[in-house]
Amino acid sequence: MSQTTYLYDMSEGDASMKKLLGGKGANLAEMKRLGIPVPDGFTISTEACVASMEAGGEWPEHLWEDVLERLERLEQRTGRTLGGAEKPLLVSVRSGAVVSMPGMMDTILNLGIGDETVEALAAESGSPRFAWDSYRRFLQMYGEVVEGVAPHVFEDELTAIKARRGVEQDTDLTAEDLQELVATYKDVSRKELGRDLPSDPREQLRGAVDAVFRSWDTPRARVYRRANDIPDDLGTAVNIMQMVFGNLGDTSATGVCFTRNPSTGVHELYGEFLLNAQGEDVVAGIRTPRELAEMEEVLPEAYAQLMQTMQDLEKHYKDMQDIEFTVEDGTLYLLQTRNGKRTAAAALRVARDLVEEGVLTREEALTRIAPSQLDQLLHPAIDPDHGRTPLTRGLPASPGAAVGAVVFDADTAAERGRADEPVVLVRYETTPDDIHGVIGAQGVLTAHGGMTSHAAVVARGMGKPCVAGAQGIRINTAEKTLTVGEDVFHEGDVITLDGSTGDVYGEALELVPPQINEDFSAIVGWADEVRRLGVRANADTAEDAARARELGAEGIGLCRTEHMFMAADRLPAVREMILAESVEDRAEALERILPMQQEDFEGIFAAMKGLPVTVRLLDPPLHEFLPDLVEQSLHVQRLELTGGDQDELSTARTLLGQVKRLHEQNPMLGTRGCRLGMLYPEIPEMQTRAIVRAALAVRQREGETAQVEVMIPLVAYASELRAHREIVERTVAEELEAAGEQLDVRVGTMIELPRAVMVADQIAEYADFFSFGTNDLTQTGIGISRDDAEGGFLSAYVSDEVIPANPFESIDRDGVGGLVRIGTERGRSVKPDLKVGVCGEHGGDPASVALFEELGLSYVSCSPYRVPIARFAAARAVL
Ligand code: ADP
Ligand code: MG
Ligand code: MG
Repeated sequence: MSQTTYLYDMSEGDASMKKLLGGKGANLAEMKRLGIPVPDGFTISTEACVASMEAGGEWPEHLWEDVLERLERLEQRTGRTLGGAEKPLLVSVRSGAVVSMPGMMDTILNLGIGDETVEALAAESGSPRFAWDSYRRFLQMYGEVVEGVAPHVFEDELTAIKARRGVEQDTDLTAEDLQELVATYKDVSRKELGRDLPSDPREQLRGAVDAVFRSWDTPRARVYRRANDIPDDLGTAVNIMQMVFGNLGDTSATGVCFTRNPSTGVHELYGEFLLNAQGEDVVAGIRTPRELAEMEEVLPEAYAQLMQTMQDLEKHYKDMQDIEFTVEDGTLYLLQTRNGKRTAAAALRVARDLVEEGVLTREEALTRIAPSQLDQLLHPAIDPDHGRTPLTRGLPASPGAAVGAVVFDADTAAERGRADEPVVLVRYETTPDDIHGVIGAQGVLTAHGGMTSHAAVVARGMGKPCVAGAQGIRINTAEKTLTVGEDVFHEGDVITLDGSTGDVYGEALELVPPQINEDFSAIVGWADEVRRLGVRANADTAEDAARARELGAEGIGLCRTEHMFMAADRLPAVREMILAESVEDRAEALERILPMQQEDFEGIFAAMKGLPVTVRLLDPPLHEFLPDLVEQSLHVQRLELTGGDQDELSTARTLLGQVKRLHEQNPMLGTRGCRLGMLYPEIPEMQTRAIVRAALAVRQREGETAQVEVMIPLVAYASELRAHREIVERTVAEELEAAGEQLDVRVGTMIELPRAVMVADQIAEYADFFSFGTNDLTQTGIGISRDDAEGGFLSAYVSDEVIPANPFESIDRDGVGGLVRIGTERGRSVKPDLKVGVCGEHGGDPASVALFEELGLSYVSCSPYRVPIARFAAARAVL
């Protein structure tokens, strides 16, 4: 007995066998099982394709013999013979991957037709026209797909004969015309190839199967797989099926339909058909098809049967189906069904309707939606039908679309933004100083920086589209020009950014608004019923806090206080504080900052209406609040050269001295986080006072008490946390005593250093909660500086597949994820109920959220706009 592992008759398969039979083959088998009319056939498994790819195109032993054996059985079942002079069998040879890749691979129809069979077919059908039409189609497909003849060669001949006959449509050609075309096709193939096409149908079959195997690895298939995260090693199955004929006259037809509208999700008739045609005509748009509804009139019985089958299939698969069908002389055949691709809006609508119709449970519905689809709906998008070519491309740093006039500095962006003029801020890179410009702009384009570059992080946090690191652009800030190749844009010229793809267009494109509709809210609401993980937001202002609540955040997991220090009206006091020579001077400067901090906290506490708010004490190195070392040196030099004002010069020199004193080679690992508080305990003390006073004020005013959590950053030693805890507790007690009030203030720490992970049990003694700062933990855990790495080796690492993904976007599961696991275990070994959260960009990344669920963390915290995605991802993580 020969081995048969690679071959399956259609009656042997079912829908669960996609991995082996491909989606198309498995679903055809399933339809057969359900009693839906499908032409008979058999499938060569994906394993055969993989084996032959691995062997450099050499087929596995026995494969060909086995194919011939299956073919023989098919001939017996159908009572027809491939290449037979009587009752000939014609087959299609169809590709079919595990994950559907519509139209990316090849298929050949009408195989088995030749000079003899064409006559037999004509006699049997009584339609020579049909027979010759099938023949010329076969020659074209075989020539193109198997022999690699350029498509236009055949198309040109078809166009030429139509012109000679003075007809418009293929269907207007007579049997004689088509016979002539067959002769021409043979001639041109001979000319192109220098030999005849093989005439033995078995040899053709072998060539066709081989061509389908090879079509797995065409450039377009590879590009498609890359774009859709489909592995390259799956291979395609090959389906060999008896042909049914939609081109057998006006009682025959072929068509494609969806069980629902794939762009809106609405449950309505959606499809097209063509009378007297074969499948490729509709799919490839060769003739303009007719609306499916019109089929009811011309083929009423087949139509009614199709409607019923559509319903049955949707019920069976519990999902919207995309269906191919053919009607042969009044009889309906199904040729393909698959879960239909759909827009994000349609995905939500379909899921929701299917739940309402009782087809799906809510949990099942959640698994039918991809997190990236929610993401798309949260941003205005470019009208998908724009049809324009991008000018250049950068990294898709923050999704959504922006249309606006180019501006080159933050001040102009802010000013125009306030005047409601849409602008796009174009910078080499952005710094914290540009923040107002980012706020004022519709979107941000940078020449430098990666997906988590400052511009990108800020833009995502605000839901602003951003294209970062567009290396093809040149920016001249002085001239105010943006140059891309030959094109030069001046301030005020309009461009469009697509932050979802990274594309940049040199003109205004139409936008469609974000679609946070009822479907969206309903589905994220179902996610809330299912998820275990809490979801909080990172918010530094009252506006962000309010937005976070609207989007469903259950608290603030990270309120950074340094942005409050950066604001223009505070910077002078902050600088004074930093530059103070004595404790008294510093205390005085802090005294001036305190009420401003308090005001900020009041706004946030009020917006959160009694939900938990985690305030992180000052984190960045102090030099960030001072002028840049190089700039200040130049400033001093300039003053010296021009011999200007002596007072100014001396102030500038003093400042330069301070800047030099505070300058660090490696500020990320320098005097920052709790190290600041250890050196200057007055700072955490002032911040604590501001927090307590704000909480009390809001309670008095609004009647609601914030659940205050004070978080100490960059702790490496338990003693650092102990010292900070003492400061915070003492200050809280003083404030409460003075006010004669009670307030529960909890003190916790960020875990963002490997040492902190290792001694998490010691640290937990002094912590009411942990929050993993996964951004810094990624930097310190892997030993990479984000700002330097993303513009440098990291992108190469990702594109060369040294690492699977940028670890700042999606957590490094084994390494940094392992640190999170160990830190949690050690912390909870001392305090089993220790609340453990994550703040940092990873809190809004679905793959990372799945890991945090696995590790049993308490909550994730992410930027407000990602809160719905985190809620959804947290639910998906438990399903
Ligand atoms: P694709 O994956 O590009 O859609 P298919 O293998 O589905 O390729 O086939 C292309 C077209 O040919 C489809 O319209 C399909 O319905 C039609 N077709 C395939 N096999 C047969 C067959 N045995 N009889 C009639 N039409 C067929
Ligand atoms: Mg198809
Ligand atoms: Mg940090």
